[in-house]
Amino acid sequence: MQKVHIHKNKVNSIERKHPWVFSGAIISETDEIKDGDVVTVYDHKDRFLARGHFQHATISVRILTFEDQEIDQDFFNARIQNAVDLRTKLNLISKKSNICRLVHGEGDSLPGLIVDFYNGTAVIQCHSIGMYNSVELIAEALKQALGKELKAIYSKSSDTLPQRAEGKDTYLFGTCETPHVALEYGVKLQIDWINGQKTGFFIDQRENRFLLGKYAQGKKVLNTFCYSGGFSLLALQEGADLVHSLDSSKKAIALTDANIELNNFGSKHKSIVADAMEYMKELEEDYDIIVLDPPAFAKHREKRHKAIQGYKRLNAHAIRQIKPGGIIFTFSCSQVVDKYLFTNTIIAAAIEAGRNVRILEQLHQPADHPINAFHPEGEYLKGLVLQVD
Ligand code: SAH
Repeated sequence: MQKVHIHKNKVNSIERKHPWVFSGAIISETDEIKDGDVVTVYDHKDRFLARGHFQHATISVRILTFEDQEIDQDFFNARIQNAVDLRTKLNLISKKSNICRLVHGEGDSLPGLIVDFYNGTAVIQCHSIGMYNSVELIAEALKQALGKELKAIYSKSSDTLPQRAEGKDTYLFGTCETPHVALEYGVKLQIDWINGQKTGFFIDQRENRFLLGKYAQGKKVLNTFCYSGGFSLLALQEGADLVHSLDSSKKAIALTDANIELNNFGSKHKSIVADAMEYMKELEEDYDIIVLDPPAFAKHREKRHKAIQGYKRLNAHAIRQIKPGGIIFTFSCSQVVDKYLFTNTIIAAAIEAGRNVRILEQLHQPADHPINAFHPEGEYLKGLVLQVD
């Protein structure tokens, strides 16, 4: 097995069980190591520290284990069983809901691996070449852990791997026609992992969509950055009077329209294809509730300042125009904007808009997107429910 040795000043981080080794921490030669190889990590005195997947990138090793164990079928079986057991305890697969994230990377001690579950189909998304090389082992472990619940496994990593890995998207077990209908709190959703964004749906907003439902009865709602309409559907199911869903992508709006029709909510719904930043400058209606769920404005630290300006502008438009007493559900999924910075940005937007704002609820990612306590970078989704006086 290939070895890497790390600088004595970097040992601490691994001893605290942080799962990444950065390229700058490695003091040994790595030219002979191939992308995706399993490597053993040693300190400068040749003491065993960890084992993980190597990649020629800024994050050079994603650590899979801090014990001296093989990375084989038994390893994946145990980790995936553990991940599935957590979701079972959380009762995430039931009569009313059958969409959840089964494996959330570092949060399930499987860095580089995402597995989402949609009513019988597991969609695997690899973020490292090592995980991609292990998809057959992962598929076998999923079959063992899920048994007859599992009808198909689709591997979709071409978007998330570096080009040199030549990731192919294909079924590894069974097949399932898309779009495939799955349920979230009783709402029907058509999921298309082949043509849709990411694995087909943004599962991470499930509990926040449910919460919106509780505020929505009798209300007029604007759902911006709606993708396939998740927030709109929960609001309509819980008795919203009227919902407008907005996205800049025509494909996303087509998904929203199909989902609205599938649930027979058409009479209370309108879709809008537009750029949300432009549209929010001058709203055509008085809304009781506005949802702002933009894509990550900053993917890197260098983009953070610009991203904050974007969040501030977007939120100031909503705060300025919402009805008195209105509610805003506002989110950021930029990992580099933490919850304190996000809250301060919203406060700045309220000052700019010149209205009194109260924070009613502080929102975050759900339990099937767990944060490994030794990997704080895993916290990415944050949101606030605001009331504007
Ligand atoms: N709220 C959604 C997920 C949002 S994902 C849910 O619950 O499922 C972000 C969405 O923003 C994507 O659908 C993307 O097409 C859309 N988007 C990106 N930039 C946009 C812009 N400038 N204006 C409007 N929509 C935009």
